[in-house]
Amino acid sequence: MEADKRCIVIGAGIAGAASARALADRGWQVKVLDIAPEPCAAASGVPVGVVSCHASPDDNLLSQLTRAGMQQTLAFARQHLTEGQDWLPCGVLERRLTDAEHPKKPWQAPTPDSVWFSHVQLAQPEQLKAAGLSNESSQDLWQPQGAWIKPMALVRALLSHDNIHFMGLHEAENIQKSAATGEWQLRIKHHISIPSMGSSHTYTSESAPQVVLATGAHTPDFLNQVLYEPDMGLHPISGQVSWGLQPAALDTLLPPFAVNGHGSFVAHVPTAEGNAWYCGATFERHQASTAVSEQAHGHNFQRLKQLLPQAAQTLESQWHSDSELHAWVGVRCASVNRLPKVGALNTQRWPGLHMLSALGSRGLTTALLCAQHLADGIEGRASGLPDALFKAMACDLDNA
Ligand SMILES: Cc1cc2nc3c(=O)[nH]c(=O)nc-3n(C[C@H](O)[C@H](O)[C@H](O)COP(=O)(O)OP(=O)(O)OC[C@H]3O[C@@H](n4cnc5c(N)ncnc54)[C@H](O)[C@@H]3O)c2cc1C
Repeated sequence: MEADKRCIVIGAGIAGAASARALADRGWQVKVLDIAPEPCAAASGVPVGVVSCHASPDDNLLSQLTRAGMQQTLAFARQHLTEGQDWLPCGVLERRLTDAEHPKKPWQAPTPDSVWFSHVQLAQPEQLKAAGLSNESSQDLWQPQGAWIKPMALVRALLSHDNIHFMGLHEAENIQKSAATGEWQLRIKHHISIPSMGSSHTYTSESAPQVVLATGAHTPDFLNQVLYEPDMGLHPISGQVSWGLQPAALDTLLPPFAVNGHGSFVAHVPTAEGNAWYCGATFERHQASTAVSEQAHGHNFQRLKQLLPQAAQTLESQWHSDSELHAWVGVRCASVNRLPKVGALNTQRWPGLHMLSALGSRGLTTALLCAQHLADGIEGRASGLPDALFKAMACDLDNA
């Protein structure tokens, strides 16, 4: 008998889009639901993000995941996005700013047999010069494969597949296993606004044998309030990006590549209104607010002064102009061990219910790889990921 390859994905951010695409490429029919009318309504709506790996001298699990993850994201970008418009493999300068209390382990230039060889090198004088930095910062790193990417373009391309059907304004309000069919039955709430009569809602239902929760920062509430399960320690981290349009006169004064290490900075990003620069983001642990704040702008500027003093000086007057400084705020979902949560929720109690969440601050780098791992699990195939990573990302409910 043919396997029933139907799946509903709840959430149309990068986690949901990547999950849907991984399944669709394997012949599944996937419906992607979101509360919002369009994809990327939440964290994945960040205007631009950095794709890079987490460099750690001891090659910890986050390093292993991000190193493999960025290969997957960049391979998809090369095939489906427009270079220079939607993404740019410009390289990433990683500043290793240290203070006496928190010294960083020195980074040894990797030898050709090191896993880091093609990923992370010591920054060269010409890269430091292009960022307006002196040669003394010898601990700064250069990631030649690093890139900036526009998540909206990435999500749109992931969802663009004949087997994927996006359904906006569909809030999954409840989910139950049907005793009659054995499928997951979702109660969908549709918000409608009636001019001069306020708002109301109607309900429909959707069902499928497999469901993926990709609900970002809503995940703890979904686990608590819909499934009555513990939240696995998942928590929100709010972040504000400060950005502005980049007059042509600034082109030679801002680094031609992305810079991170104490917040991040990306310039020369094409938008409908001209090139723009982006700086941030703040990191408000356990905060789920999406309100723009002056304080967050100030915090981003203080960090830019340390990250890239020359760029901070160049942008100072723009930073203090209400009409020229803009903000974007979103909420990340993070786990206690800083790794994503991927896989079956609980194979005994909730067969067919899966999750891809807690992508933290590196979802653009890791989501596509995690989605392949998720799809392997749904199809009952062995994952290509190392065992330790597999276990560290497993959903706690399945181990309970
Ligand atoms: C300020 C900021 C800067 C960042 N910078 C970077 C960066 O430089 N590089 C990088 O790799 N990552 C970055 N990230 C992280 C990255 O954006 C996130 O990890 C990623 O977008 C999370 O994607 P997601 O799909 O899990 O969640 P989201 O994008 O939040 O998507 C969840 C979706 O689920 C929907 N949803 C929730 N509940 C329901 C429901 N009941 N029914 C239907 N739909 C529902 C929501 O409407 C939403 O669209 C940044 C994040 C922020 C906030």
